[in-house]
Amino acid sequence: MNAHQFDVIVVGAGGAGLMAGLYASRTAKTAVISKLYPTRSHTGAAQGGISAALGNLEEDRIEWHTYDSIKGSDYLGDQDAIQFMCEEAPQAILELEHMGLPFDRTPEGRISQRFFGGHTNNETGKPVRRACHAADRTGHMILQTLYQQCLKNKVNFFDEYQAIDLLIENGRAVGVVAIELATGELHTFHAKAVIFATGGHGRIFEVTSNAYAYTGDGAAMLLRKGLPLEDMEFFQFHPTGIYKLGILITEGVRGDGGVLINGKGERFMPKYAPTVKDLASRDVVSRAIYTEIREGRGINGSNYVYLDVRPETVNRIAELDGRTNPDGSKYTVTGEQILQKLPDIIDFCRVYLGVDPVTQMMPIQPTAHYTMGGIPTNKYGEVVIDDKQTPFPGLYAAGECACVSVHGGNRLGTNSLLDLVVFGKHAGLRAAEYANGVEFESLPKQPEAAARSQFDALRHATGKENVYDISTEMKKIMFDLVGIYRTEKDMLVAIEKVRELKQRYANVKVTDTGKIFNTELINAWELGNMLELAEVIAVSALNRKESRGGHSREDYPNRDDKEWMKHTLVVKQADELKISYKPVTVTKYQPKVRVY
Ligand SMILES: Cc1cc2nc3c(=O)[nH]c(=O)nc-3n(C[C@H](O)[C@H](O)[C@H](O)COP(=O)(O)OP(=O)(O)OC[C@H]3O[C@@H](n4cnc5c(N)ncnc54)[C@H](O)[C@@H]3O)c2cc1C
Repeated sequence: MNAHQFDVIVVGAGGAGLMAGLYASRTAKTAVISKLYPTRSHTGAAQGGISAALGNLEEDRIEWHTYDSIKGSDYLGDQDAIQFMCEEAPQAILELEHMGLPFDRTPEGRISQRFFGGHTNNETGKPVRRACHAADRTGHMILQTLYQQCLKNKVNFFDEYQAIDLLIENGRAVGVVAIELATGELHTFHAKAVIFATGGHGRIFEVTSNAYAYTGDGAAMLLRKGLPLEDMEFFQFHPTGIYKLGILITEGVRGDGGVLINGKGERFMPKYAPTVKDLASRDVVSRAIYTEIREGRGINGSNYVYLDVRPETVNRIAELDGRTNPDGSKYTVTGEQILQKLPDIIDFCRVYLGVDPVTQMMPIQPTAHYTMGGIPTNKYGEVVIDDKQTPFPGLYAAGECACVSVHGGNRLGTNSLLDLVVFGKHAGLRAAEYANGVEFESLPKQPEAAARSQFDALRHATGKENVYDISTEMKKIMFDLVGIYRTEKDMLVAIEKVRELKQRYANVKVTDTGKIFNTELINAWELGNMLELAEVIAVSALNRKESRGGHSREDYPNRDDKEWMKHTLVVKQADELKISYKPVTVTKYQPKVRVY
């Protein structure tokens, strides 16, 4: 009863998993398993938009999108993969539209587009409207649209099943073991191809915009199997999280004319990015905010600044910057228009802060947001295991858990939703093609044994350590010592402390020994994943002796292309982390100093 067989198994039902499931199911018997009910996946929280050089409101070119993404990645992104993604983008948006996605429209009925950080007209250097959006609920709409399509296409869903082990036999991925959350029963899913689409791991950090489910299960499972993780030192801090809570305020707020203000009431971004100002890439804006705070210019000397989208400010700044509408008329907004464009953000601020953004400024601080590193893949979603891009048979990954690498050292806003749709699709197509050309490999003997012993150990552990305490300490260490700014001294402390926490974790006590929806047990297992990844992040960050994108070392403040134009690969062998490298693919854009 607990044994299942499918040609393709997709682990994860966010944007990437649903897209993969949809495409694989067209030619192969496919199942999607997800620890969350699919429409609760974090993709549903994405606000601002999805990028494509449609040029609906002003001139735009695929080549500009490609170059902006390469520049945004601080030249660590693989240029062939970035070009592929940007070329596929317009078609991907039209496909979503044809599936029924309710994009916002221009008065002429075209898909509306807004500004977003780092997306520019390469000739003028000014921001360009490239982000397609459905109000500030773009991800929600993508998720709902794709889920409906999957149901229509009869994709098999196993909701609230959590994968806990990857099965490998004769050098091939042959399935997963999952726990059915409602019953605590283990299930074996035998497959010809397995696609991981498990999302990121921002919950490792104290202040984060990420959902509770962002515990890095997929990456941790593969690490335990001896497979490599790529560029894990690169984690993006989004400039505008709600103070203390970390809840995201979309960059679309600045796209629509909002500005950052310090404790002296000054707009400070022009000092750091004279051309695009508040719309510089996220790493640049996060560091600018941190610098203001550290130099005592936070609000009332505290560690936050303001984001101001009040119509009078937006209109005054637009006048100063000479900002115009696409038809050349003066850019102005009213309170009503702000409400219409940013309904969810306004709601968050009213509910969580008691602040009304139409009349008041929002207190914000940078928040841990996006996992640039992850499971190495090529542009077809095949998991690759070395510097020669050798694929691991039957294993695929897509979405935030994967590292293609299209985001390199820093992701541009709106490029992740695009990544999901483009690479989710190709992973699904490739996996199905592979599955249709091979026979089932046998399962390992006692496929559930490793997962069962891991869970039994947790369930019956007799130690005194508390999951919540260890988790809280890990988050604080990672946010404070391996955060926006990094130094060797801090990171050595972080590594030592994370290793101590791992030892304490071995003595963790789970008080609920039951089987039905045992969330305490699951949280304990997820903490194990986060601790594994926290160590990999800190070790990778300590090793990279330069500053690039989201990785900013105070002791090595410059980018060092001679030494460090390479991806980090980390594998775990006999409990030791081993580092190696793989080259960055450069096609036609030689690295330059980034100026915004
Ligand atoms: C608040 C917020 C706003 C954002 N806004 C934007 C934006 O405007 N534009 C943009 O481009 N990007 C945005 N992003 C980034 C983007 O939304 C995410 O990177 C993207 O949605 C991730 O999609 P995914 O399919 O990889 O993962 P998710 O959508 O998170 O899906 C992961 C899936 O994996 C499943 N899963 C995980 N572990 C297991 C397991 N062990 N077993 C079974 N299932 C498992 C989960 O149930 C879930 O279904 C935003 C992110 C956040 C947090």
